[in-house]
Amino acid sequence: MIKIAIASGKGGTGKTFVATNIFHTLVKNQIDAALVDCDAEAPNSVAFFQTKQASAFKVTQLVPVIDTNACTFCGKCQEYCNYNAIFILPPMKIINVIEDLCHGCGACSVACKYDAIIEKPVSLGMVNLYSINGKPALIEARMNIGVMSPVPIIKEAIKQINGQAEIAILDSPPGTSCPFIQTVSASDYVILVTEPTPFGLSDLKQSIDTLIKIGIPYGVIINRAGIGNFAVYDWLKENNIPLLMEIPFDEEIAHIYSEGRILTEDNVNYRNQFLNLIKKINHIIKNQKYV
Ligand code: SF4
Ligand code: SF4
Repeated sequence: MIKIAIASGKGGTGKTFVATNIFHTLVKNQIDAALVDCDAEAPNSVAFFQTKQASAFKVTQLVPVIDTNACTFCGKCQEYCNYNAIFILPPMKIINVIEDLCHGCGACSVACKYDAIIEKPVSLGMVNLYSINGKPALIEARMNIGVMSPVPIIKEAIKQINGQAEIAILDSPPGTSCPFIQTVSASDYVILVTEPTPFGLSDLKQSIDTLIKIGIPYGVIINRAGIGNFAVYDWLKENNIPLLMEIPFDEEIAHIYSEGRILTEDNVNYRNQFLNLIKKINHIIKNQKYV
């Protein structure tokens, strides 16, 4: 199985458009594919497909609960907590866990020598599994409102692929922070979707810096080609970064997407382009011909 993440430095570049159309193309060509929507803050890939929810499960995290009768207010748990999630005022005999800051690392429980800490599960979000044509194919990570980090939910969603697909497409969260890193780290290759504008170039540079540090191969799709300027093209050339595909700025494409339809359903030309793209990436991965 190969895993390909579709990512972008910023939202609104057409990342989900590319991910859903690649996935649709693979399904249409009878290739065993899975799509994982890792954009847990605002997952929307499912909306583009006729699906049936197959199953769902909650993702929880253990957070500490302090028994103030057993607590000696020694402060060790606060010392061990790297996330400032424990508030303690020994003279007033006050100790609280700030659940929103807690990362569930368990360090405080290890630190406490007085058995004053137990742990309770707190819900972070859901992983929803959907089937297409009776086969589980679409996995959605969805975090609860107010949860600090979607990383544990993304991790669980990616785990569900479980070797069941030949090719898995991971629709990454935008940006370059932990949710992006969690998604791309699980991938064999990253397609970065950008637009030919100064903002597009600036965010692309940041994404590529991060991918170089992690050591994941990548290539670029320029979406809405024809708007903006040529700076992205020049920069890709100067830095020997592969331009995998261009999608022109086209009102018809925007119209189809805004109606929640899939371009490759009727457009054979794009279906072929996306299929060739995946063949090319497959070849790059198998031959380790990384940039
Ligand atoms: S589980 Fe970790 S993050 Fe949460 S309060 Fe304890 S030490 Fe801090
Ligand atoms: S380490 Fe245990 S005993 Fe000490 S302050 Fe924390 S909960 Fe209380």
